[in-house]
Amino acid sequence: MVDTSLSEIISNPSCMDDYDPNSMPVAKARQFIKQFLSPVIATEVLPLRESLGRVLAADILSPANVPNYDNSAMDGYAFNSADISQSTELKVMGSAFAGKAFVDGIQSGECVRIMTGGMMPKGADTVIMQERVKVEGNLIRFTEAPKPKANVRYAGEDLQLGKIVLAAGHMMRAADLGLIASLGIGEVSVYRQLKVAFFSTGDELASIGKPLQEGQVYDSNRYTLYGMLNRLGVEIIDMGAIADDLELLEKTLLSAASQADVVITSGGVSVGEADYMKQLLAKHGQVMFWKVAMKPGRPLAYGKIQAGLQTNHDAHYFGLPGNPVAVMVTFYQFVREAMLVLMGQTNPAPLPTFNVVCTENIKKQTGRTEFQRGILFADIDGLWKVKPTGAQGSAILSSMSLANCFIVLDESVGNLDAGAIVQVQVLDGLV
Ligand code: AMP
Ligand code: MG
Repeated sequence: MVDTSLSEIISNPSCMDDYDPNSMPVAKARQFIKQFLSPVIATEVLPLRESLGRVLAADILSPANVPNYDNSAMDGYAFNSADISQSTELKVMGSAFAGKAFVDGIQSGECVRIMTGGMMPKGADTVIMQERVKVEGNLIRFTEAPKPKANVRYAGEDLQLGKIVLAAGHMMRAADLGLIASLGIGEVSVYRQLKVAFFSTGDELASIGKPLQEGQVYDSNRYTLYGMLNRLGVEIIDMGAIADDLELLEKTLLSAASQADVVITSGGVSVGEADYMKQLLAKHGQVMFWKVAMKPGRPLAYGKIQAGLQTNHDAHYFGLPGNPVAVMVTFYQFVREAMLVLMGQTNPAPLPTFNVVCTENIKKQTGRTEFQRGILFADIDGLWKVKPTGAQGSAILSSMSLANCFIVLDESVGNLDAGAIVQVQVLDGLV
């Protein structure tokens, strides 16, 4: 499968043993898309904070040990573990604070009052918590035998000099900003931002600010797409809502493809549409049209668009269904992970998925994967469970607003009784 080109698949679908565009399992569609993704290669150097959500273009090596000196993990007293058996009484020779070391070393029978982060004085290898000693003048006595070498953070135990701290292909998160700052590094090399252009298609669409005529709906897909793309940290190019008009659609499609790495459209890929998008995509690119065995979100198109000779550039194309819930479901099931790959991330993790008890009955048809909208909640017995949001129609966008997860029901699953174990994909923080 890997060696087959897009144009081969499109011109001769039967060249692939088990390829049926009219009944495409979810996992297979994902796998297909994966083999054609070519990540961005251009890089830029950014100040550390601006790298949040971007993908590292080069390994970051540790220029030092972190921590770079042995220090105390507790407020207490630092001493040599050899003294544990010899003496229960130690003389306090001075203090070591974080940022203010005790410069002299200590001898047998001596200790130093030390605070968390304070540098271990020479001659000391163990810290006893202050709560485990009795202080008598400038002497301390253990109230509990300490463990040798306890409560010390050793140089290099977090990061070792010269080792890879974060590898190229890693997406920067909050902890990573701190980690890189802890090395004293202020700039990092990342892949350039992915540019994503999108537009809605449909004669019935009205944009916000204009009164609705009879038979019109406000274009909501451009808003959910904006939200989802924004969370991914890509550069967004909103091309508007375009009527089902061949010339207008062609102009918009080519303009989108010449400006962006990825073009996303919603609507116009289902059966019974005026077929303009299909015509245009056949003329300007190689695009596969599928009926995916899923609900919501049956029609889906993926491929590449040539944006004209002068640019010599192919844009990835995702044709999403028009129904508002289907747009979001197909985005999370196919586009999100593909986008992370295109942004340069190595092996992006799928949405976190686990099994929980569902507290209500579920209606489900076999033969397709359903992504019902669910609410994960902590039940009175303290266990996390899930219940469906209610009506599950593909146009009921309020179900996505209520939901904090998808309830993923495989092709083989049918109706379920309350109490059944179901798989959920967590959405909180994504939508
Ligand atoms: P389509 O896939 O174009 O046949 O659209 C399927 C359904 O989704 C129709 O009811 C459309 O009115 C609706 N729809 C399509 N695009 C949008 C949009 N951008 N915003 C809201 N609803 C839409
Ligand atoms: Mg339409």
